[in-house]
Amino acid sequence: MSLQAAEGTLDAPAVDIIPLGGIGEFGMNMLLIGCGGTALLIDAGVMFPEPELFGVDLVIPDLSALDAYRGRIAALVLTHGHEDHIGAIPHVLGRFDGPVYGPPFALALVEPKLQEHGIDPGDRLVPVAPRQVVEIGPFRVEFLRVTHSMPDCFAIAIHTPAGTIIHSGDFKIDQTPLDGQAFDLHRFAELGTAGVLALLSDSTNADRRGFTGSERDVLQGFEEVFSSAPGLIVVATFASSVYRVQLLVDLAEQFERKVAFVGRGMQQTTQVAERLGYLRVPAGLQIRDSDVRSYASEDVLCVCTGSQGEPLAALPRIAIDDHRHVRISPDDVVVFSARIIPGNEKAVARVMNHVARRGAEVVSDAQKRVHVSGHGSEEELKLLLALVKPRYFVPIHGEYRQLARHARMARLVSPATTVLLAEDGDVMRFDGQGGRIADRVQTGRVLIDGTRTGEIADEVLRDRKHLAADGLLVPVVAINGQTGALEGEPELITRGLAIDPRQAEVLSEAPRLLARAIEAISREERTDPGLLKERIRQELQRMFRKRLGRRPLVLPVVMEV
Ligand SMILES: [Zn+2]
Ligand SMILES: [Zn+2]
Repeated sequence: MSLQAAEGTLDAPAVDIIPLGGIGEFGMNMLLIGCGGTALLIDAGVMFPEPELFGVDLVIPDLSALDAYRGRIAALVLTHGHEDHIGAIPHVLGRFDGPVYGPPFALALVEPKLQEHGIDPGDRLVPVAPRQVVEIGPFRVEFLRVTHSMPDCFAIAIHTPAGTIIHSGDFKIDQTPLDGQAFDLHRFAELGTAGVLALLSDSTNADRRGFTGSERDVLQGFEEVFSSAPGLIVVATFASSVYRVQLLVDLAEQFERKVAFVGRGMQQTTQVAERLGYLRVPAGLQIRDSDVRSYASEDVLCVCTGSQGEPLAALPRIAIDDHRHVRISPDDVVVFSARIIPGNEKAVARVMNHVARRGAEVVSDAQKRVHVSGHGSEEELKLLLALVKPRYFVPIHGEYRQLARHARMARLVSPATTVLLAEDGDVMRFDGQGGRIADRVQTGRVLIDGTRTGEIADEVLRDRKHLAADGLLVPVVAINGQTGALEGEPELITRGLAIDPRQAEVLSEAPRLLARAIEAISREERTDPGLLKERIRQELQRMFRKRLGRRPLVLPVVMEV
């Protein structure tokens, strides 16, 4: 490619880059790139709701900005298979006709999501390989191998009439990846030499110094656990952390333990990963979760979901003796092998307390190196900047303080680089005059309530349509914080429920039924507000769905007295 083409010509058509999510927040990553009559999307992710948003299961970007591009969006391009990059695809796929290009593993994780939503993608999911180039209108889209906490991740180089734009995706620079798929530093350097118009790069760990470290760095910590644990070993991690799971499987083989995957998400993801060859489990090593109890506990490793204390995931259930197949006892070791997502600290601490109360040992990153991040720290971010030497730099993926720090690094690495500190909805325009923030489009969040397939427009609590259809239910439950006993009958506050005789009957019975359901669960679950709220929500939703065919929004309030 000539230098002229790489740098863009004066009369070249403008290229617009519009982040629709993922800047100024973690998650919900989505970006639109438009040129002339063609646009493409990069990633379509979700964000997990804050604990205050009861009844809301997912948060996706507001997609109304896409309306202006109706008929012009030619493709969706995926960097990798994490939820914050693929979770919103079922809601986006209907907004354009073209293909979804992505790494095979990411596409394999997208498929069951589409199935759940009753969407048949036909032949729209198109797997791509490292260094493959796909032509989309005026764009030549090139996929570059990067390393991260899951296999098969890409950065994306988009060769446009205005110049080359590189989107880093999520990355760290793992020089000893478990699968031998090295970060393609060479190609980044080549592109840098040819001239890169703009680099958009992952800022998640911009406030951490040094290097993040390889996925292999947790080996020693886990070896210590395996060589000293007298009983069962339970490790909670993200299902998508396939490298972590592989390392655990290998250790299980070495230390002669069987492996059970526990929790729906863990079972689904490991199955997909095994089928596609991203996870290798030696024959005879794996057992079913229902068989765990037929082995001696010192012969078993359980790899499970629930590292964030999610009330319905495996580990939080195991920790209160409420799991069908797995129990923990005093000789066991429970390892938390994941970052705690801000907001989940209390829920995770409660799970640790439940585990400790059963006499088992709790191991987290504070005691041993049992977790390593998937995102590059300061020196890795600088290295990428030095290789690519972009004319413009746009920090993405992070809250403002990380973006600002990343921007400062870019100026240090190369004074010739101009930083564009954009926010969601900013239209960054690149043309013969250079790059600048030229316009704004509407952005925001849409809250998804998983009990319905539809979307809840804007803030859920103010959504009139939803409330009008099925109403709002606020159960107020007072619990003795010590004994877990109910202090009086639960109260039910309702809004927007149509009054008919059948409904009135259910409403009058509900407090008594709810009280009975609460009394039937264990004291530990009753004294754990997170678990109790989830239980109350489930009970009432089930009651209203079964008897009235309605799905009111349930916002439990638990008062400890
Ligand atoms: Zn990721
Ligand atoms: Zn991400």
